[in-house]
Amino acid sequence: MDFKMPAETTEEIRLFKKFISTNIKPHLSQWYAQGEIPRIFFQQMGAGGWFDFKFIDGNLQKLSALRCAMIAEEMAKVSPGVAIAGLVHVHLGLIGLWLFGSNKLKEKYGLSAIKGQDLMCVGNTEAIAGSDAAGIGLQAQKTDGGWTLDGAKAYVTNGFISDWAIITAVTDPQAERKNRLSMFLVDLNSDGVSRKKLNKQVWIPSDLTRLTFDNVFVPKDYLLGEKGMGLKQVLTIFAYSRVPISALTLGTAMGAFDLAVEHARKREMFDQKMIDFQAKAFEMADFFARIEAARLAVFKACWAMDQNKNFRLESSVAKYLTVDIARSVSTWSADIFGAASVIKEHPIHKFPMDAWASSLGEGTQDVQKLVIFRELLKNYQDHS
Ligand SMILES: Cc1cc2nc3c(=O)[nH]c(=O)nc-3n(C[C@H](O)[C@H](O)[C@H](O)COP(=O)(O)OP(=O)(O)OC[C@H]3O[C@@H](n4cnc5c(N)ncnc54)[C@H](O)[C@@H]3O)c2cc1C
Repeated sequence: MDFKMPAETTEEIRLFKKFISTNIKPHLSQWYAQGEIPRIFFQQMGAGGWFDFKFIDGNLQKLSALRCAMIAEEMAKVSPGVAIAGLVHVHLGLIGLWLFGSNKLKEKYGLSAIKGQDLMCVGNTEAIAGSDAAGIGLQAQKTDGGWTLDGAKAYVTNGFISDWAIITAVTDPQAERKNRLSMFLVDLNSDGVSRKKLNKQVWIPSDLTRLTFDNVFVPKDYLLGEKGMGLKQVLTIFAYSRVPISALTLGTAMGAFDLAVEHARKREMFDQKMIDFQAKAFEMADFFARIEAARLAVFKACWAMDQNKNFRLESSVAKYLTVDIARSVSTWSADIFGAASVIKEHPIHKFPMDAWASSLGEGTQDVQKLVIFRELLKNYQDHS
């Protein structure tokens, strides 16, 4: 076991922090005020090689999970809302293409996505089903040369700005739950697609969009993976994306914690600095210890993914622990700022809401417990 960060990752993170200082920080207040992230952000991320995939010898290849976790964490310390937009494009959209797209689709759209030119998202959740991913109702009917989609996806991050969406749909309503769904790559500029941006208070400035499909044609080659395997496939995408979202959530916790410690070091009250009250010092030590424990869980999940081991247990443990700490540390950090924390423009204001958002994306805490329980039970089956 080696806890030392690889030298090349340390160097890349140093460069990425520079990228944040020049390409993200100066624009944040404008992006927050407008409630949107311009395409140039994605293109600059792509040009810098920060999208965690490369095309090597004509093949789409995923880079190290540890590197991408560090990138997600650093970005989220500054803005979880910008970090989630980058993460959804790569770790829901592009990763779905990588896992289940044909070589032809990967060649056609993968490179453009890595460059941040074609943007991607994933729509599974509907008004009638979220945690119960199998319970969706959007229909795909077989037609000449492909499929037609009818229905709506209720909450799609990046749905407003994306060019392509990975969409789950019912292809065989009579089949058992695990074989009812299939997965499609859908051109969001097709006839019959409409988008409605939702008015949310979390993960600003990313968008959350309702996508409606009215008789939308999808060519047969745009079915991803196997017909009838859509449920298994979308759950696999979520298992992958739980690792970077855990890192993003860790960044949310650290971003809030750092602001709070800095403030407590300076704020005078009752003839001393706030940090000199032992009650506050103990709270900080407690939070720091819990953040460190969650960080180890994220690193272990990255390690398991990079070793090509089954990482479902590790990714749900990491998600569960990071959300738990981010929700409590961000609320505590807001408290440290007193009344200033309720002002929308204050840097601390976004963190409690963004930690809450983390608890929903890629499955709630209850869903993580279901996965953890299912996976841990496997350890007992052989010995009974
Ligand atoms: C900001 C944001 C961004 C999102 N982005 C996307 C996206 O890009 N693509 C996408 O497809 N979806 C997206 N979602 C949707 C998200 O994945 C769902 O909100 C989430 O899966 C929960 O589903 P739900 O909202 O339908 O809640 P429900 O599934 O109705 O859950 C309600 C409550 O019931 C609990 N519960 C559920 N099942 C069980 C159980 N078996 N046992 C005990 N308790 C249970 C849940 O934990 C929760 O507390 C996003 C949501 C948000 C808020």
